Amino acid sequence: MATVPPYRLATSLEDRISALETEFHRAYWESQVGVSPESESRRAELELELRRVKGDPESLRLVTEALNEELHEPMLKRQLEVLRRSLTANQMDDQLREELVGVSSAVESEFASFRPEVDGTRVSDNDILHILSTSIDETERRAAWEASKQIGARVDDRVRDLARLRNQASRDLGYGDYYRMSLELSEIPEEWLFSFLDDVDRLTHAPFSACKSSLDEGLARRLGVETIYPWHYADPFFQELPPDGRADLNAVLAPSSAVDLAAKTFAEWGIDLAKVLERSDLYPRERKCQHAFCLDVDRTGTDVRVLANVVPGEFWTSVMLHESGHAAYDLMIDQRLPYLLHRPAHTFVTEAMAIFSGRLVRNPQWLVDVAGIEADVADGLAERLRQTSAAQELLMARWVLVMAHFERELYSDPESDLDSLWWSLVERFQMVTPPPDRNAPDWAAKIHVAAAPVYYHNYLLGAVLSCQLEKEIEADCGEVIGNRGVGEWLSQRLFSPGNSMRWDALIESATGRPLSASDFADFVTT
Ligand SMILES: [Zn+2]
Repeated sequence: MATVPPYRLATSLEDRISALETEFHRAYWESQVGVSPESESRRAELELELRRVKGDPESLRLVTEALNEELHEPMLKRQLEVLRRSLTANQMDDQLREELVGVSSAVESEFASFRPEVDGTRVSDNDILHILSTSIDETERRAAWEASKQIGARVDDRVRDLARLRNQASRDLGYGDYYRMSLELSEIPEEWLFSFLDDVDRLTHAPFSACKSSLDEGLARRLGVETIYPWHYADPFFQELPPDGRADLNAVLAPSSAVDLAAKTFAEWGIDLAKVLERSDLYPRERKCQHAFCLDVDRTGTDVRVLANVVPGEFWTSVMLHESGHAAYDLMIDQRLPYLLHRPAHTFVTEAMAIFSGRLVRNPQWLVDVAGIEADVADGLAERLRQTSAAQELLMARWVLVMAHFERELYSDPESDLDSLWWSLVERFQMVTPPPDRNAPDWAAKIHVAAAPVYYHNYLLGAVLSCQLEKEIEADCGEVIGNRGVGEWLSQRLFSPGNSMRWDALIESATGRPLSASDFADFVTT
């Protein structure tokens, strides 16, 4: 049989995938800015079609064969590697694929439609959050927290099914389980990741413990209780700082436009987001996705869009800065790169950029220079802002440790006693006292376990890298705010190479050293 030359193989697969993926991205965007059964079914149809094309076993065979040949062009080799990983992740027979899609959509719609009851009244997630952040009534708090977990018992069997089905596809390909396969296909060695998580555990143990003690003391005083249980925190999983534990910027930011502030921040770095903002959909409306994301529609950097639901205040200002970080990255990737490499080096690398820019909202100099806050007001807030940023990162880090360790065990043995495992991890990493005699699948109440598998560690890697970037940028450029040199540094060192090299090589070339948790540790302790 005649073999296809590797270059031709890469381009022909790339053409097919890029056309379909661009069409899928357009349909995805439409389904998010105007939610309707039609737009949703069009999106689902294209997604399945894309998965089928990427799941073609013959394409994978040809790519693997080509990679076994001696390839002299590093760029071509990289393209084929990207293809191999993307095709491998989608290999499974049609029956398994349909079953997986069926179970996961059923679980996701259960999450979307289920409303638990407190005292016979149906409540939403927002109602629960409202009770947990404001109520001083022990019984009401506990009932609201328990209500937040009711979804777990409705979906846990199906989430275990999802893990079994995902494992089946991975084992058919020769991987130990889905967790290991997903890490390998995202170029994150499992051993490296868990030793990295151990470093983070070690470095954050004492500062987290101190931060939590002072939080707990405040809660015990305010709520008049002796032991702090999970329902005493402000959110069901203790991922967020309670509102009274943080600096509040809502009043000072209320008069400003979050969109203008984000545009100005990047313009001063020499990165023009005007075209992105023109194509974006930024304000709340009926039948529109309530969250925020950034999308590079055809992966050329010429049609980058942000979806947001901006209202005045700190939260959406920070979200706009975050999404603008993603957008700037997509915009500044070298135009000459082929489709498969014209994307960020890794999910967590673009996340790092977004976290770095999102955090500027708590930077006193940004508040003065960009948001126009009086200098003495910003000075007065500085210490509290610093503590808020550190405490928030600490809470996030310890929570990611729970999720990452839990997911590894879930896929390693979906039949094990996950209910107990969950609470032992929560106790170990978040230092939260488990409720007495709790016997329920609380792990299944976290939608990411079902809907965003083997993803959570990216939040932590992104946060860690954001600190390393900040440190190096300060060392190389001096001022961060309003300095064109920062935009050049980011564009040349971080954005421009796209996915032409692996994330670890990119981080070393951009910051001069491998990814390490030390700057993150400094960030959360100072
Ligand atoms: Zn993001």
